[in-house]
Amino acid sequence: MSTHRNVELPRADPTPTAPVRHALANGATWEGVDVLRYKQDPGVPFKDVTRQVLFQQPTLGCELRYFEVAPGGYSTLERHEHSHAVLILRGTGRCLVGDAVHLLGLHDLVHIPAMTWHQFRAGPDQPLGFLCMVNQQRDRPQLPTAAEQAALADHPAIAAFLAGPELPLP
Ligand code: MN
Repeated sequence: MSTHRNVELPRADPTPTAPVRHALANGATWEGVDVLRYKQDPGVPFKDVTRQVLFQQPTLGCELRYFEVAPGGYSTLERHEHSHAVLILRGTGRCLVGDAVHLLGLHDLVHIPAMTWHQFRAGPDQPLGFLCMVNQQRDRPQLPTAAEQAALADHPAIAAFLAGPELPLP
């Protein structure tokens, strides 16, 4: 007589992926991975950003996305309860995290804590591509009010960052 019980196993991922998806020659796209619009919501400000969902795994509870900001482009200035873990994979740029602006180079790691204003900007002459790990279940991003945006711009470095386009990066 079997002693096996019906054990609740993790469900298979609804969107199984090939064990290996090769990167294409530009290092910024992968076999069988669609290049998507950055955000679907109308009226959310951003410029020249694409999104690719590399892993979307309920068993891990997280997603890994690749975003690429074209030269002169920028992601949405936003904050939310969930956090981000970011790895720069291509190009250079700058990011705002809280009240500080940081230069970004290849393989730099960025942690965006909960409820912290953040934005990524590419320089004028090169893209900024990055991996972003995020919870699969997450709250919707909040945009700054006019007053909150004005408070950020009280910092000269942030005002210069938000004004773009940037000077060429060193
Ligand atoms: Mn975000």
